[in-house]
Amino acid sequence: MPTVEWRSPASEMAVQQFDIAAAKLNLDANVAGRLRRPERAMIVSVPTRMDDTRVHVFTGYRVQHNDVLGPFKGGIRYHPAVNLGEVSALAMWMTWKCSLVGLPLGGAKGGVACDPAELSRHELQSMTRRFTAEILNFIGPDVDVPAPDMGTNEQVMAWIMDTYSQHKGRAVPEIVTGKPVAIGGTLGRKEATGRGVVYTIIEAAKHLGIDLSKCTAAVQGFGNVGAVVTKELANIGVKVIGVSDRTGGFYDPKGLPVEKLLEMVSKSHILEGCPYGEKIRNEELLELKCDILVPAALEMQITKENAERLQCRILAEGANGPTTLDADRILKEKGVFLIPDILANAGGVVVSYFEWVQDLQNFFWTEEEVNKKLRDILVKAFHEVLGMSQREKVDMRLAALMIGIDRVARAMLWRGLYA
Ligand code: GLU
Repeated sequence: MPTVEWRSPASEMAVQQFDIAAAKLNLDANVAGRLRRPERAMIVSVPTRMDDTRVHVFTGYRVQHNDVLGPFKGGIRYHPAVNLGEVSALAMWMTWKCSLVGLPLGGAKGGVACDPAELSRHELQSMTRRFTAEILNFIGPDVDVPAPDMGTNEQVMAWIMDTYSQHKGRAVPEIVTGKPVAIGGTLGRKEATGRGVVYTIIEAAKHLGIDLSKCTAAVQGFGNVGAVVTKELANIGVKVIGVSDRTGGFYDPKGLPVEKLLEMVSKSHILEGCPYGEKIRNEELLELKCDILVPAALEMQITKENAERLQCRILAEGANGPTTLDADRILKEKGVFLIPDILANAGGVVVSYFEWVQDLQNFFWTEEEVNKKLRDILVKAFHEVLGMSQREKVDMRLAALMIGIDRVARAMLWRGLYA
């Protein structure tokens, strides 16, 4: 993004990706100028009473990139590295992601710079409620609908829903997605992002003629996305040889005991102290010899420094923006098949959309219906991207961005400029 306010490595990367796709699409210059920056960006102070009675002022953000296709949609991240630039990049990627998979939603993202692991449950709740109050006038079921992202979960969504509802004087479940099922959440949302990643891997393997039951995989990140990817890959017979989280990684060329790992992490929430496999560093995990590599943690993990050393055949981006542009070029030369983030991890927002629709209709679906509809959408999107990539002779990232951006641009041209 050109102005200094939201300049950061992530936002520069997002804008460069956009510029490359815009040039390939021959995008109308006036539309391109509007899409390079968010429609609205908010920075709020979030004073929070800590357990020792001190008031700590956190910084929170909500960036609304584009709502030409429908209400803004996107997660809320709690992480120490959250800043305006990162949130702006993530908001832009949400716009392309929703558009690519055909949802009537725009793109947004929010976050609070904090380390949720360092906060007590009470502090986390107070901070979440005050953050919600600060952005209350800018969100709404038909305006901007938040969801979980890194460091947030269904409990945080429940507090956001409650705070918003208290202000409105009635229950408003449709204000957030990724809520507990007990208060209007949908079946299958928690698993949706990870499941979606695996649905796209299955399509990639079919296209490449690879037998998944003979494949190995390594997964970076063992949160809501990485853990589900690991489980679902194991379910279809893929041997998971490496996993990692912020505390480090574990590697066993004969395959890790996935069920036991999941059980352990459901209690401890971290991989630290894992008794299975050999201990490796997080960076080493990315370079393991495997068929499928799934980065499912932070952005900009695969760079020009390590891309050359990657040994996977399929790179499925569970995280948002895990691969830099330089790394993209190197991986393309190496012949790695890329399933780009806005396609691979779109399952989360697709099922968020299902949750929002169910809330608005007060009519709930079975988990089978949710999963089937999710799979249909992702399989269709995968083949649209593959088709575009073959027709235009571009990589899968550029093809996905071109489809996502083109739909938004067409809608903007129809709607015109209000002035
Ligand atoms: N945070 C998720 C993402 O990056 C989900 C967003 C949503 O469900 O609105 O796609």
